[in-house]
Amino acid sequence: MPDITDISHARQLDLDDPLSGFRKEFHIGDEKLIYLDGNSLGRTPLRAKTRINELLEKEWAGRLIRGWSEGWLELSRRLGGKIARLIGAREDEVLVCDATSVNLFKLAMAALNYQKGKNRIISDELNFPSDLYVLQGITDLLGDPYELNIIDSEDKIGIDPESIRTAMDKNTALLSFTHTYFKSSFVQDMEMVTAMAHEFDSMILWDLSHSVGSVPVNLNACNADLAIGCTYKYLNGGPGSPAFLYVRRDLQDKLRQPIQGWLGSVRPFEFGIKYEPDRGIGRFQVGTPPIISMAAVEPGLDLLLEAGMTALREKSIMQTQFLIDLFDKWLEPLGFSLGSPRDPERRGSHVSIQHPMAMKITETLINGDLGGGSLIPDFRQPDNIRLGIAPIYNSYEEVYIGMQMIRGVTEKIMESL
Ligand SMILES: *Cc1c(COP(=O)(O)O)cnc(C)c1O
Repeated sequence: MPDITDISHARQLDLDDPLSGFRKEFHIGDEKLIYLDGNSLGRTPLRAKTRINELLEKEWAGRLIRGWSEGWLELSRRLGGKIARLIGAREDEVLVCDATSVNLFKLAMAALNYQKGKNRIISDELNFPSDLYVLQGITDLLGDPYELNIIDSEDKIGIDPESIRTAMDKNTALLSFTHTYFKSSFVQDMEMVTAMAHEFDSMILWDLSHSVGSVPVNLNACNADLAIGCTYKYLNGGPGSPAFLYVRRDLQDKLRQPIQGWLGSVRPFEFGIKYEPDRGIGRFQVGTPPIISMAAVEPGLDLLLEAGMTALREKSIMQTQFLIDLFDKWLEPLGFSLGSPRDPERRGSHVSIQHPMAMKITETLINGDLGGGSLIPDFRQPDNIRLGIAPIYNSYEEVYIGMQMIRGVTEKIMESL
């Protein structure tokens, strides 16, 4: 058995890593800064800088309004087609547009409208708060008899599919769940839960924000109805980059979404006064897309497609396992507990660790108060430190040094008490 607490082990893993070449595709300004927050905001692909400069100079400045007929109008679908390849969907089932929360509203309303006569939405307490807020907004807006049923988690790490089954009945119109949970990194069994939804003639909407680009998803193989997700986490699309939505092909012409903007209409440039929805995925578009933000998404997507989801997932599992092995040796003795599944099949690409002094530890790590570099993790109230690993650019050595820093900082803080 190699000694994992010796840095030479991490260095050997980097040498053996078939994806190690991708790190140089990203801007790494400060080699001493350990970045384990790619699950909140991914690093900047160098090609994104080139692409944005080119867009500003050649397309916006050079072509002005002609740009719309020279590629800008198709960008939402073109990028959607690339995301489709990462999530097991067909090219014409995915569109890049709006924010994740807005897309949730559009698709959940469309589903409820289609499921007229049924009035129950089911979600769970570990879901991303914005998702729960949007669903609450929908039931408030629609009023009686619509209701939102929020399932409790027993271990506060994941949701047992059986508890979903128990909550379902013939009134269930829509299940809205996250595939990889933002706090614990628990990965839900998409195939099983989707089949469950269909047993009860309910529709299902998956939030893929913490999965896309790190955990393989196969929407078509599961026959999933609807999905949404963001592009600024593991897809490295940049701050506030537009989100995506997926609608299964056979449902597209049956669903009506509530924000009937001109770009979702069948002939936007005829400027008629009566709305008629476009056919296909196009009807889920609303207004003029943010071309500059959207163009920045493409280079990150291309890099992930070049690396391939199978290789990315393999590396992600090895890295989160390496992190947990170091956790057991170094951090558990210091009073940390693990807030993520130990089973790699049920774990995404970030690992949650908990400590009563997590906030102080995080601040000290970010400020680099101990000299020799700093670490950016992600802190969630009250005691959660999330360590996000983006296999496309994080090295094993980074994981090793990051864990060493957490140990060092925690020991110093505890000594000073
Ligand atoms: C990050 C994230 C979001 C973000 O929603 P925005 O509307 O893009 O801010 C939504 N859902 C989940 C599960 C997330 O992880």
